[in-house]
Amino acid sequence: MKPLILDGKTLASASEGEITKRVKRLIEDLGGKKPVLATILVGQDPASATYVRMKGNACGRVGMDSRRIELDGSTTTVELLAEIDKLNKDESVQGILLQHPVPNQIDEKACFDRISAAKDVDGVTSLGFGMMAMGLDAYGSATPGGIMRLLTHYKVDCTGKRAVVVGRSAILGKPMAMMLLNANATVTICHSKSKNLAEEVSRAEILVGAVGRPEFIKSDWLSEGTVVVDAGYHPGGTGDVEIEPALDRISAYTPVPGGVGPMTINTLILQTLEAAEKSI
Ligand code: NAP
Repeated sequence: MKPLILDGKTLASASEGEITKRVKRLIEDLGGKKPVLATILVGQDPASATYVRMKGNACGRVGMDSRRIELDGSTTTVELLAEIDKLNKDESVQGILLQHPVPNQIDEKACFDRISAAKDVDGVTSLGFGMMAMGLDAYGSATPGGIMRLLTHYKVDCTGKRAVVVGRSAILGKPMAMMLLNANATVTICHSKSKNLAEEVSRAEILVGAVGRPEFIKSDWLSEGTVVVDAGYHPGGTGDVEIEPALDRISAYTPVPGGVGPMTINTLILQTLEAAEKSI
């Protein structure tokens, strides 16, 4: 049987329709003022510039404003912190996105953590992570948050399932593991020091690839019936999982592109709307 496609593109597009209606109602409540997502891009990295543009475009599609702040690649931590402080105080801004990665001279963690919890719509602060992990009300990191929405939409029940997350970054692997745990999965986190990776992956009923290396997770590591979520994206449309040869065995998968990526942006937009709704 053909595996189910966890189609993030279609779900994100349907969700945009719902978000657009809510934004319209909110603008009426705000007497005509639009919710604003501020995006901060430091430096000239073309991929980051594209991501920021895509996020701004998504705001426009649902009727929200985005305010682009572009800083020179030589910006210091102190200068970036000052910029974040200004946005934290600015009542016309409801969400703040600092595009990752920032240039090496900047202390990214300190800058993420300066974003006020109420405006941390990308879920990047340590406080937000801790609260999310404790099951409290906080915006989760947008990529794993989008993955959870996708799994919920397609009725993938995580309860009691063995979930394996390959990758432990602060914005993806770790929050992903916590969200799966909160959804009652039995979670294993693998990383570059893990042993017997193929064996760990083969035990997964739900597998999340978040490694950042093209087709690093091999198809013959995947077991019968596994739900495969591929967060990776590499030029030419490859993900972190070698999926093609396993299509006759697995039960569901996220396509690359069109799986996780659109849900990330959609979750950021949804969380910005929620922040704006809470602010009134
Ligand atoms: P990252 O910060 O580079 O983290 C990669 C993780 O993979 C690390 O935890 C690392 O382990 C682990 N890893 C590296 N080599 C490994 C190996 N040989 N065996 C096992 N684990 C290994 O990357 P990221 O930001 O989490 O992103 C991961 C992927 O997701 C990338 O392809 C990125 O483009 C994609 N992504 C997509 C979206 C989206 O919206 N679609 C958003 C964010 C990221 P250590 O911790 O031990 O070094």
